[in-house]
Amino acid sequence: MSEFLLELFYIVGCVTFIIGLRKLSSPDSARQGNNIAAAGMTLAILGTILFHKNEAGEGIGNLAWIVGGLVVGSAIGYVMATRVKMTAMPQMVSFFNGTGGATSAIIACMEFFSSDSTDWGFLLVAYLGIVVGTVTFSGSMVAYGKLDDKIKDVSGRLMTYLNWLMLAVILVLMTMGILSPETLGANGGWILLGLSFLYGIFFVMPIGGADMPVVIALLNSLSGIAGAFGGLIYSNRIMLIGGILVGASGLILTALMCKAMNRSLMNVLIGGFGGGSAGSAKASGEQSYREVTLNDAAIMCAYASKVCIVPGYGLAVAQAQHVCHDFEKSLEKKGVEVYYAIHPVAGRMPGHMNVLLAEADVPYPKLVEMDDANPQMPNTDVVIIVGANDVVNPAAEDDPGSPIYGMPVIKVWEAKSVIVMKRSMRPGYAGIENPLFFHERAKMLFGDAKDTLSKLVGELKNL
Ligand code: NDP
Repeated sequence: MSEFLLELFYIVGCVTFIIGLRKLSSPDSARQGNNIAAAGMTLAILGTILFHKNEAGEGIGNLAWIVGGLVVGSAIGYVMATRVKMTAMPQMVSFFNGTGGATSAIIACMEFFSSDSTDWGFLLVAYLGIVVGTVTFSGSMVAYGKLDDKIKDVSGRLMTYLNWLMLAVILVLMTMGILSPETLGANGGWILLGLSFLYGIFFVMPIGGADMPVVIALLNSLSGIAGAFGGLIYSNRIMLIGGILVGASGLILTALMCKAMNRSLMNVLIGGFGGGSAGSAKASGEQSYREVTLNDAAIMCAYASKVCIVPGYGLAVAQAQHVCHDFEKSLEKKGVEVYYAIHPVAGRMPGHMNVLLAEADVPYPKLVEMDDANPQMPNTDVVIIVGANDVVNPAAEDDPGSPIYGMPVIKVWEAKSVIVMKRSMRPGYAGIENPLFFHERAKMLFGDAKDTLSKLVGELKNL
């Protein structure tokens, strides 16, 4: 009976994961999807505690440890999730990926070091669990440090060769450990653990800042794959399915992010554009830019028939989402049609702009994806860019020498006029200059996004 109930809890859990994942694909159902999947996970944990029996028919022991771990972990997770600033979300995602990888690696280590099995299937899964889990852990912690600006990029050809060498040694050791378990013994496990830890660090270290979203998605996928190996070790179906779902969805996201940057995964991993030092587009030379006053910007927007707002990382930094929504409503009161053009990698994590604007209650239909927004540009009177830079850089389209050449961008320069709202002429995350600022149809509106937008709302009231 308890076996039947356990299976039932697991099946319901798996179904909730799939429904949850499906609902995560749209901003308006994402919160519900998250809650459904979390409820399914709670059910799976409860089912395991209540109904799981080992081969001797004994139930789960160590309840105090399990409940204690759940309480402490949930409390830390709750505090982190409620306190984290919107701009620090990618760091938190990276940290959580790392803890997932570490957990899977610990499971694999415990089973490997406490078993004297020479069965090749067991050894393969245990080694993979150790390697993938540990690489995910150390790689995610480096990604966390880089996103938080605590670790700088270290790159170069030597690093690439070293990475390939380490990967080759890991593969050779794993093969030896499986084909001839007695030769390596427990030492093999320790060496693999150490090498994987180093490989995780060295593999993320050279990847440029602007490529971090891809790496985070990849590490997220790896944390799922490591979890799936844990499921194989314990023959636990829900762990296996949960891991596969995270692994597969992370891989799909990785592929989509690469597509959004027009890069191959290999190109991202062995270095390309990114970080402040990784090359720059054409220097500005003698080019000059034009500024617009607050009053003129308000007049341009108020008398337009169609205005497009392009949000970027600066919107998140300034926490200007609420006042941006007020600005949009003020324009609509004046009969202006307003929409937001959303680039898939605007901000510092996938979906960053959607989350920010949803927090400010901007209606979802107003958020137009880049591919649908671009054809609307020639019919748009004013584009107002709020703290975006790389995602509106025309060099991606017309400068083959630019490090971001080929990356799809929002073609704001095709609109009738463009207002760029930012604090200075400094470059964005990719560290490259933006020729848009010198474009004949573009004007700069300098200042903090929140402050400037609230002043614009004030100006609109007086018009
Ligand atoms: P960028 O980083 O290119 O530009 C943001 C701009 O915002 C800066 O130029 C900055 O200019 C301005 N800014 C910063 N603070 C403020 C403020 N308080 N008020 C007004 N403006 C401000 O951002 P984008 O969103 O255009 O592009 C995202 C970049 O980040 C891409 O290169 C992407 O690849 C990368 N990335 C994306 C991730 C993702 O998953 N979405 C994750 C990690 C990186 P100034 O200092 O002059 O104000």
